[in-house]
Amino acid sequence: MRILKIQTLRGPNYWSIRRHKLIVMRLDLENLAETPSNEIPGFYEGLVEALPSLEGHYCSPGCRGGFLMRVREGTMMGHIVEHVALELQELAGMHVGFGRTRETATPGIYQVVIEYLNEEAGRYAGRAAVRLCQSIVDRGRYPKAELEQDIQDLKDFSRDASLGPSTEAIIKEAEKRGIPWMALEARFLIQLGYGINQKRMQATMTDNTSILGVELACDKEATKRILAAAGTPVPRGTTINFLDDLEEAIEYVGGYPIVIKPLDGNHGRGITIDIRTWEEAEAAYEAARQVSRSIIVERYYVGRDHRVLVVNGKVVAVAERVPAHVTGNGRSTIAELIEETNQDPNRGEGHDNVLTKIELDRTSYQLLERQGYTLNSVLPKGTICYLRATANLSTGGIAVDRTDEIHPENIWLAQRVVKIIGLDIAGLDIVTSDISRPLREVDGVIVEVNAAPGFRMHVAPSVGIPRNVAGAVMDMLFPNEQSCQIPILSVTGTNGKTTTTRLLAHIYKQTGKVVGYTTTDGTYIGDYLVESGDNTGPQSAHLILQDPTVEVAVLETARGGILRSGLGFEAANVGVVLNVAADHLGIGDIDTIDQLANLKSVVAEAVFPDGYAVLNADDRRVAAMSEKTKANIAYFTMNPDSELVHKHIQKGGVAAVYENGYLSIVKGDWTHRIERAENIPLTMGGRAPFMIANALAASLAAFVQNVTIEQIRAGLKTFRASVSQTPGRMNLFNLGNYNALVDYAHNPASYEAVGAFVRNWTTGQRIGVIGGPGDRRDEDFVTLGKLAAQIFDYIIVKEDDDTRGRPRGSAAQLIIQGITQVKPDSRYESILDETQAINKGLDMAPDNSLVVILPESVSRAIKLIRARGVVKEETHQQ
Ligand code: ATP
Ligand code: ATP
Ligand code: MG
Ligand code: MG
Repeated sequence: MRILKIQTLRGPNYWSIRRHKLIVMRLDLENLAETPSNEIPGFYEGLVEALPSLEGHYCSPGCRGGFLMRVREGTMMGHIVEHVALELQELAGMHVGFGRTRETATPGIYQVVIEYLNEEAGRYAGRAAVRLCQSIVDRGRYPKAELEQDIQDLKDFSRDASLGPSTEAIIKEAEKRGIPWMALEARFLIQLGYGINQKRMQATMTDNTSILGVELACDKEATKRILAAAGTPVPRGTTINFLDDLEEAIEYVGGYPIVIKPLDGNHGRGITIDIRTWEEAEAAYEAARQVSRSIIVERYYVGRDHRVLVVNGKVVAVAERVPAHVTGNGRSTIAELIEETNQDPNRGEGHDNVLTKIELDRTSYQLLERQGYTLNSVLPKGTICYLRATANLSTGGIAVDRTDEIHPENIWLAQRVVKIIGLDIAGLDIVTSDISRPLREVDGVIVEVNAAPGFRMHVAPSVGIPRNVAGAVMDMLFPNEQSCQIPILSVTGTNGKTTTTRLLAHIYKQTGKVVGYTTTDGTYIGDYLVESGDNTGPQSAHLILQDPTVEVAVLETARGGILRSGLGFEAANVGVVLNVAADHLGIGDIDTIDQLANLKSVVAEAVFPDGYAVLNADDRRVAAMSEKTKANIAYFTMNPDSELVHKHIQKGGVAAVYENGYLSIVKGDWTHRIERAENIPLTMGGRAPFMIANALAASLAAFVQNVTIEQIRAGLKTFRASVSQTPGRMNLFNLGNYNALVDYAHNPASYEAVGAFVRNWTTGQRIGVIGGPGDRRDEDFVTLGKLAAQIFDYIIVKEDDDTRGRPRGSAAQLIIQGITQVKPDSRYESILDETQAINKGLDMAPDNSLVVILPESVSRAIKLIRARGVVKEETHQQ
């Protein structure tokens, strides 16, 4: 077996609209191509021995053991690789269930599709599955040690990619609510929502979090002063910079016991509490000095440690934090108990798991001594031994939920304090003996206000109810359901995508909104080019969706991007499908028009249920997509008598129709005439039918988004397909005695489209300078020749400079074959060099003729034409 290619999908795709995270592996079975599993001696037994848990895979029989039954009876290796890859991820703790395997048009070559949670893990699982199966084929077994290593590696990928417990909680909540999210390129920034409606987060800070609030909270001394001035209970204390001032400070706070901590520390670093002697105080001073220049000396308040989380002015969770400790069993030493506690798989290093491993430090030994123990003491059954003085989870503490116990006065106090500090999300550290009584009554204090408080003690407390604190954050950032989205309009089809995308963007601009759009020519925001290039994939979509100035996204969505990595968004408000015609067949395992239609249908299917699929009623494969999408349907048609459209309108549907020379929207009993085609420059005075179709599609897409008829009309009338705006798309040049047209048509459907315009050219001869890209199939060139014979009076056949691997002259030969097949008496000649061919066409042009040039290089063709002194470059005004 050999893996030919591995692709990673991240959005709605050819295989599934709902499952976005898929690995597609192109697998050559080589010598196993004709050997089902039952014909490989010992394979079934070897597989069951290596992965007995495959018993849990139902597969087509639909019951436990179903898949293994298939293996015993005989199934192809691609299918087995799929199940093994899924199972390996499952064994590493990543729950995935979706898989598909299909043989491609090339016998023995399969596409194996597997779901993943973590990209790298998914790709690894695919490769490991091939290795595992191959080993069982060759040797009857897969070594246990290798399997264990595979699973360990998979776990490592998953852990390394983890964004931390707080961010994970936020993302999970966002996904539950259908709020899109993306990780940005730097600083662990997470974007929630799109375009102008996006919010950013970094851990638990949002872009509403005030920088002044954060700085104030980080300065513990200033926080205390502000809070004391507001009459709230804070520890009595002072700040010093020299050891010489320590004695006086202790006196000032009222003598022992005291607390010494760094002024701007966190995670309990450098803190010593419950200091009772001068020696301890001196040592504590030195420890704090390691962390900060300035040192806080405070009275020690006896009590339990609480974290009160306030989001958007409301207390949303309260946790008591219990310092790292072990409980005796009457047999084990304290050291053994620590060891045992740390075995808990929930305890990780630092912040990356629900709990953290217990680690001892300087204060731990002091604590042990005070309790009368050493690490080797055997702890009596049921006795608790504290190992850390402070309760930070990151030093091995645990959390107990107390949300339902806090006293209303303390809620009021906490909310007021956070408002005073000025934070949208904050965690208060409160030391009190009883959180269910007012702090005032029990001498409780607010020790600190934390900006960017961790969520894990609330979402995964060791004891008590988990609290959905991320939900409160989402409520704050996105108060109503739609407020995270911007309209997304996605346009696909074999021909006319760029034109329709540009026109639709132009129409939408009439509403005064900032439109971001992507096309094969480049990415634009408003009136400006952001980046030139073929930008029709998910990355370009992300650029638009990440831009905080964009209010509407119009995205040309080409087959390549969908195939390579899926759509760059979960669902659109409008998905436009213009047409499906033979082009690029045989590339990327899309071999038939129907497969191509399935691929393009992703755009129609990945639409919100209350959105619209805008479909071409005149193209049966496009019209059929209405069966597959859950969205509303809107049809456009060039045929006012279309039965499909009539039925649709009768049922209350909406459509755009070309009738009596008008582009109209038909809805219910009403026909809203937008404009006469001949007044719409893009349609070249109404002579280019396919441009009318594109304009209908764009108008309809705008209309279903509530753009008014007046705005649509204004857009249609002011959109000029000039050479500079849309090079290579029906650029017509008046050269005095004759005309030249440059177009980018390079597949049969676009030849026909251009042909429809050319046939309307009745004033003189029609000369074609034609060719096609070398990577198309032989029969495609023959088709181009046949079409050309029906369109032109004289044909010059040329080839691209880049023949894309074809022997020079072969494409031209095929085209000529096509020409002579339909019209043996056709007038034609072959000039392979494009420049020479174009010049010949222009040289021979008789008066009133039209020279149609379908070049490889649009810019070169235009240069050659301009060199002859253009009278007028038509912008297709009436
Ligand atoms: P974190 O980042 O985890 O919030 P930190 O390093 O910012 O910790 P503080 O919150 O100031 O430090 O203190 C850590 C813990 O020490 C408190 O939660 C509390 O349990 C204890 N503590 C601090 N000051 C006092 C005090 N004056 N009296 C009693 N306990 C205190
Ligand atoms: P690409 O796949 O190269 O990005 P595209 O789908 O973006 O192409 P456009 O750039 O808008 O298409 O148009 C390219 C050519 O396709 C046009 O110049 C014209 O010849 C032809 N064309 C445009 N619209 C249609 C249509 N609705 N039907 C058939 N052909 C069309
Ligand atoms: Mg604290
Ligand atoms: Mg395009």
